[in-house]
Amino acid sequence: MELDYKLNTITPHIAINNSMIRSGNISGIILNNYAVIVDTTSYRKTAELFRQKLEKKFEIPVSYLIYTHYHGDHIFGAPAFKDIPIIGSEKTLQNLTNRDTLNPLEEWKLGLMDEEPELAKGIEIILPSICFQKQYFLRDDNLSLEIHHSGGHTSGSSYVYFPEEKALFTGDLIFQDIYPYAGDPTCNPDMWIAQLENFQKMDIETIIPGHGSILKGREALNKHIAFYKSLKTIVLKALNDNETVDAIKAPDFFPMETDIWKPIAVEYWYNFYRQTD
Ligand SMILES: [Zn+2]
Repeated sequence: MELDYKLNTITPHIAINNSMIRSGNISGIILNNYAVIVDTTSYRKTAELFRQKLEKKFEIPVSYLIYTHYHGDHIFGAPAFKDIPIIGSEKTLQNLTNRDTLNPLEEWKLGLMDEEPELAKGIEIILPSICFQKQYFLRDDNLSLEIHHSGGHTSGSSYVYFPEEKALFTGDLIFQDIYPYAGDPTCNPDMWIAQLENFQKMDIETIIPGHGSILKGREALNKHIAFYKSLKTIVLKALNDNETVDAIKAPDFFPMETDIWKPIAVEYWYNFYRQTD
């Protein structure tokens, strides 16, 4: 059966698919002479379908892939882009080569291949071939794309800004419609909050998150910033009161599709601030 995986054109230069909330969003930015893809979903199949549909509809080749970070639900579909350069931060390259982060990623890959043999066929971990420390720009005549490293959700986390359409691709610095995963071993809660606050100073109309539906305008960030700040406040208070991690009641800002990520976030942030105090 052919998988129904659509291309959803949200602005004149941007097409996305955000239909599989657990698998991560994939986006295409159509410049003048070539297109750029941001993240790959968890599956080679969905990445291939997205690329084919985008190249056909806009009659333009895809010339670059950007990784917002190293998590499997954003990079496992990379074999669909083996013929083009992959751009990622230096820290993302570290995340993909350091055993502490690579081993769980390899386990995740094997688990997916077991659970979803059809969809996960041919998924692979592919390293970025163009690495940047702070930022990297792509230019195509009058259009440009800015890729900036931020850290936060993971140490390699980066975001993409497309000034022409005031569009921001946040990767997993924003989870929409689903409780965030905030327990990566390289997660830095303070950098995460700082980056969300920096976004508020930018000229933004459309925000494409790592998971879920698109956000409109900077005000849409408020709820997310309030969530992470309240999580931090609750955790710091618990540490100050010598409470155990089990006693912490985490905030509910998101529809609870899963309860798993909530205790993971609480436990990680508790240990993070216990160590930094
Ligand atoms: Zn992630």
